[in-house]
Amino acid sequence: MKSSSKVYLNQQFLPKEKAFISPEDRGFYFADGVYEVIKYYKGYPFCFDAHMTRLRNSLAGVRISFNRFDELADICDRLIEENRLISEYAGVYIQVTRGVAARTHSFPSNDVTPTLYIRAFPMPTFLSEMRNGVRVISRDDIRWLRCNIKSIALLPNTLIFQEAMEAGAFECLLIRDGKFTEATHSNIMMVRNGMVFTHPDSNLILPGITRTKVIKLCSALSVGVIEKPVKADDINSIEECFITGTGSEIIPVVMVDNTVIGNGKPGPVTRMIQKAFFKITYEELAGEKITVNND
Ligand code: PLP
Repeated sequence: MKSSSKVYLNQQFLPKEKAFISPEDRGFYFADGVYEVIKYYKGYPFCFDAHMTRLRNSLAGVRISFNRFDELADICDRLIEENRLISEYAGVYIQVTRGVAARTHSFPSNDVTPTLYIRAFPMPTFLSEMRNGVRVISRDDIRWLRCNIKSIALLPNTLIFQEAMEAGAFECLLIRDGKFTEATHSNIMMVRNGMVFTHPDSNLILPGITRTKVIKLCSALSVGVIEKPVKADDINSIEECFITGTGSEIIPVVMVDNTVIGNGKPGPVTRMIQKAFFKITYEELAGEKITVNND
């Protein structure tokens, strides 16, 4: 029989079926919490510190006082080990909510401890998508104006992503005021005149860890990056497009709604960036070579 997965809740490691959260948790009532997802490449986390910095910023953004940062790396590592994910590609999910308190809009008193929940799970590589590219749709960005906070309040994202699924698409690009912001759970990069365009860091997007890494890689590869949003009406002038994310890594987009991007195949700039990204993840962390060029 398959052993059940171990999770971490508050002060304890325990089987997932034994992990219970009070219905009075503010996460349940108000989605009053934040989260992170970190990818482990055969036991090695990618950009752990950057994820911790973003978690700190998200917590500060929603005014949750949380002081257990020093323990997080050990808890995540132990969950990877105990769930036999050390030789796999895996994800670790960390969620912190404001804690358990009687339901009222105002914050509870300072003696309420935030709820900390962490779990580890297999995170397989989207190899075929990374090789062939994917089709996406676009929709209005109906989210709040603090998208830089990695909040667990994801109802707009899930509603829009469901539309993508029902349309047989891989993701949904979001449009606010006529410009692409990001996607439901990834950032967007578009190539025009050989340069990479991406929405600037602001309250309208999540500062993606993969996005930041890609911007650095572009600089090392002498690919220009312009942090400026692309207008939805300019989609026909886009040569290449790709999405970035911890789970998606770098996935080429070959069709947006009914518009074919470039020649309908992943383009050369995307390929170059994928290659550089796979070097610092699969090759350097996991010791595995990943190839995406199927020609
Ligand atoms: N944008 C949104 C809305 C996301 O939810 C995510 C990841 O979940 C990203 C972008 C990509 O961020 P990262 O590269 O840190 O995973």
